[in-house]
Amino acid sequence: MFDLTTRDIKYLSGVGPNKASILNKELEIFSYHDLLYYFPYKYVDRSRLYYVHEIDGAMPYIQLKGQILSFETFGEGRQRRLVAHFSDGTGVVDLVWFQGIKYITNKYKVREEYIVFGKPTLYGGRINIAHPDIDNAADLTLSSMGLQPYYNTTERMKRSFLNSNALQKLVEAAFMQIQSPIPETLSPSIISKNHLMSLTDALRNIHFPKNPELLRKAQLRLKFEELFYVQLNILRYSKERQQKYRGYVFEHVGKSFNDFYFNNLPFELTGAQKRVMKEIRNDIGCGKQMNRLLQGDVGSGKTLVALMSMLIAIDNGYQACLMAPTEILANQHTETIKELLFGLDVRVELLTGSVKGKKREKILSDLVTGDIHILIGTHAVIEDNVNFSKLGLVVIDEQHRFGVAQRAKLWKKSMYPPHVLVMTATPIPRTLAMTLYGDLDVSVIDELPPGRKPIATMHQFDNRRESLYASIRKQITEGRQIYIVYPLIKESEKIDLKNLEEGYLHVCEAFPQYKVSKLHGKMKPAEKDAEMQSFVIGDTHIMVATTVIEVGVNVPNASVMVIENAERFGLSQLHQLRGRVGRGADQSYCILVTNYKLSEDTRKRLEIMVRTNDGFEIAEADLKLRGPGDLEGTQQSGIAFDLKIADLARDGQLLQYVRNVAQEIVESDPQGTAPENEVLWRQLKSLRKTKVNWASIS
Ligand code: ADP
Ligand code: MG
Repeated sequence: MFDLTTRDIKYLSGVGPNKASILNKELEIFSYHDLLYYFPYKYVDRSRLYYVHEIDGAMPYIQLKGQILSFETFGEGRQRRLVAHFSDGTGVVDLVWFQGIKYITNKYKVREEYIVFGKPTLYGGRINIAHPDIDNAADLTLSSMGLQPYYNTTERMKRSFLNSNALQKLVEAAFMQIQSPIPETLSPSIISKNHLMSLTDALRNIHFPKNPELLRKAQLRLKFEELFYVQLNILRYSKERQQKYRGYVFEHVGKSFNDFYFNNLPFELTGAQKRVMKEIRNDIGCGKQMNRLLQGDVGSGKTLVALMSMLIAIDNGYQACLMAPTEILANQHTETIKELLFGLDVRVELLTGSVKGKKREKILSDLVTGDIHILIGTHAVIEDNVNFSKLGLVVIDEQHRFGVAQRAKLWKKSMYPPHVLVMTATPIPRTLAMTLYGDLDVSVIDELPPGRKPIATMHQFDNRRESLYASIRKQITEGRQIYIVYPLIKESEKIDLKNLEEGYLHVCEAFPQYKVSKLHGKMKPAEKDAEMQSFVIGDTHIMVATTVIEVGVNVPNASVMVIENAERFGLSQLHQLRGRVGRGADQSYCILVTNYKLSEDTRKRLEIMVRTNDGFEIAEADLKLRGPGDLEGTQQSGIAFDLKIADLARDGQLLQYVRNVAQEIVESDPQGTAPENEVLWRQLKSLRKTKVNWASIS
């Protein structure tokens, strides 16, 4: 059999060391295999020839067969252009080039038969085709008979004559050399049961489809395979883990929980909170190790669920740990939780980078003895020198900021892996959740605590600042507080900070009678805390900040969220920010400020924000608008990036289907030894070896 994976691309005819190195660097194509898996991004129908007399200026790409009657050049210098008058006997069109004029006149001869391919436009009363593709009619390649593939290339590749056409030729050459079938990567039963194309046929047809139907089948087969292995990988890991580890059993609910529930809990749980608590209790009581994702919109009351779960751990003799992505948030959690636990015999400590010296040492030693029941902190809690006596439950808040590797580190903190509850307020579309956190069970809090008024969202252009400030003033006189948020993106950090500083001064000037806080990531933790604190206790009326306040901060009295340069935020980020208000009983507002010029995309984003408060709807829209690669969370995991052909925004149904297929395999062959699945396990093993991200799924 031809071993595609190992054959170096430089041995392919037409490649050589120079082009090979460009292919390596620009497209990460190292082998024949990589080349065959570099799929076209679009196809153009070249199956039909048009006559010149048929065409008009409004047609898409078409092809003509005929001869060049004569060449003519016009203009001078950069204006210079070459025109070839081309005819098929039914009329004349002008082929036009603005570059490579010498090359073209040398290459193409008058009175020879050519196939010309391009997009006709009407210009000065004549039909023009600018920079057409031209082939000798005599050597029509197989591709020109069906749909022609178009490959993405880079500037650097084009300079070395590796354009889309050249890539197409290389793929053709590779297929010429590979005479035997390409080793199949799915089992015969999966292929036949699901009516899939063979791998060899699929690869041929993804590059050179004879017709749209075959293209569709090839795409289906390759998407199926891609999603199948992502799912098989996740499900297999989760099975292996289930087999390898038992989970701690928290079987009873005791004093801590009951005291809290009956004496301290200031309100009735929502139906959704009760349901989720039941799901969690089932998990932690049954002897398997819990890995649960808790999704719920901002303000839905996840923290309370986390706290009650931690109390159950404590009642069973274990410690619990809560990780937050920022110091501010860790602080706030600590305060909230200490307050909720007031009078109970539960010791809660905070550990962040700012906790130093004697205090830190004391915390570390009291953790080891088990004197501390709940540890709350930032990344600091997963440092190597932090050791627990009996860590039974880990809660991770706002999961998308924690990398997979960090999650994995936690596992080493106790003899058995602790139960893990991951909380996120960024609702994740189902397809993404299944791919990113495929081995996590999902609970959803889909109900807000009673009495909340939906936040009213408005879009306002920044030339209407006076009316904006008037409404802010009105809110402040009614006793409310205001957030004004500026974007902060790493690449332009300096400019952004300048915007923030200017904005701050501007706000101070516009509201001389009120006090203004300022918060950004470059400030020292102590400064940040002080600014935050004065806003929390109502000392200051307006908080001017960057997105550091995005996550979790809770000031129920704040009723207006103004987002400056809203066009620069993603949908889920806008939604997160908006969630900072609407936490009290008053009507809250979110005002999205942009300048006048907006792209179509931005306009859509803003419309969605104004229309709905539903985080899931927003997440789905975000996925559709931006694609999975840009969504928060996907970068770190890298998985969505690895997808070459499947599209999580569009292939949701297929994903669900394929997941079931993979699930069945994992269930029916838990040891991974059934002969009929051999090819699947072998392929999975090799993918785990070659795909960096796959090895580290926790
Ligand atoms: P999340 O972490 O999901 O954003 P929080 O747990 O911070 O939400 O809860 C938001 C606010 O709602 C908090 O002030 C909390 O005390 C309150 N809250 C939570 N659950 C309830 C409930 N069942 N009834 C009333 N208020 C609640
Ligand atoms: Mg929260």
